Amino acid sequence: MSLRDPEHPVNLMDYDKGMLRTWFEQQGEKPFRATQIISWIHQRGELDFDAMTDLSKPLRKWLQESTHISLPAVASSELSSDGTRKWLLELEGGPQNQPGNRIEMVFIPEETRGTLCVSSQVGCGLDCSFCATARQGFNRNLSTAEIIGQLWLARQLLAEAGVGGDAITNVVMMGMGEPLLNFRNLLPALNLMMDDHAYGLSKRRVTVSTAGIVPGIDRLREHTDVALAVSLHAANDPLRDKLVPLNRKFPLVELLAACRRYVEGYQKRRVTFEYVMLAGINDQLEHAKELATLLEGVPCKINLIPFNPFPGIGYQRSTESDALKFGDYLMKRGYVATIRKTRGNDIAAACGQLAGKVADRSHRHLRFVEQRFGTTVS
Ligand code: SAH
Repeated sequence: MSLRDPEHPVNLMDYDKGMLRTWFEQQGEKPFRATQIISWIHQRGELDFDAMTDLSKPLRKWLQESTHISLPAVASSELSSDGTRKWLLELEGGPQNQPGNRIEMVFIPEETRGTLCVSSQVGCGLDCSFCATARQGFNRNLSTAEIIGQLWLARQLLAEAGVGGDAITNVVMMGMGEPLLNFRNLLPALNLMMDDHAYGLSKRRVTVSTAGIVPGIDRLREHTDVALAVSLHAANDPLRDKLVPLNRKFPLVELLAACRRYVEGYQKRRVTFEYVMLAGINDQLEHAKELATLLEGVPCKINLIPFNPFPGIGYQRSTESDALKFGDYLMKRGYVATIRKTRGNDIAAACGQLAGKVADRSHRHLRFVEQRFGTTVS
């Protein structure tokens, strides 16, 4: 299939600068066109080829005929009393012909920064027992255009809302999905986030969060410089097997080794360990001790996350006093530990609550019924 074939136009949103340079070269064009296009689309937010005035008219016409620039559509938006915003986005292949391709993104304003929480997959296949997204099962990976398109859209939407498009200072891949299981499409999006001709975010302000895909952590280290967050939640294998079933594939000893490799050779690099506090499950002093011992020698900080409940979930949030004791103990052992403030609760925008109303393909609920009651459900 020829790339010039108008029947199969490329989506320019799918390309980072390096890919676009190669593509232009293959078309017999000057590779520096890539920088021009990237800065029009991502820095200036321009999607209309006719407005790209430093490109010649024939080139604009050719781009119009042989390429397109496509983004997710906004289905709805909500504003929390604390300023947090959540958007439900509709992707191609959505309701008309294939129900359920919807994702959520969240903007969290704070005094000194504004964080955009970006999704990487429709649904998620990892089945963490405390997470709302897990209930939907996995639907599909997002394309690069759909990942970077979230940042593009959020900047426009915030500008329209009078918040200012430059209010986004940080991006965290902590929305729906497991980013490291969508590495191929994730990487160009990360490159664009950090590209000075696109969004120009510093590498410390772009964070990839993983439930612990060990080969993915190594790949990330080889290809980028972003900050790494690991959703740990337990410091021993039997408990982590229950909370994060992926642990059976990549147990703690392997995960911690990958974390050590990620920071090796970098003076300032640290891994952020996320730890959702579940009352009576992983929030007692004995757990804090185990955690402190497990992380010895790993340059890190620990982010304690209050559990955010959702309908039908059996866990409860730790008491404030248990969470404080847990954090104090870690600090006494020399760790930097913070208790994350929960934001956007009134619009179900908090961690682990992103549900996006995707069709449930996991049959998780039915499996649960089967296990509990021995019923055979087809
Ligand atoms: N799959 C990646 C990205 C999702 S990030 C990962 O696991 O890191 C979402 C973060 O929110 C993770 O740290 C996840 O463990 C946490 N989380 C999930 N459900 C939650 C809930 N109900 N309450 C609080 N945090 C939750």
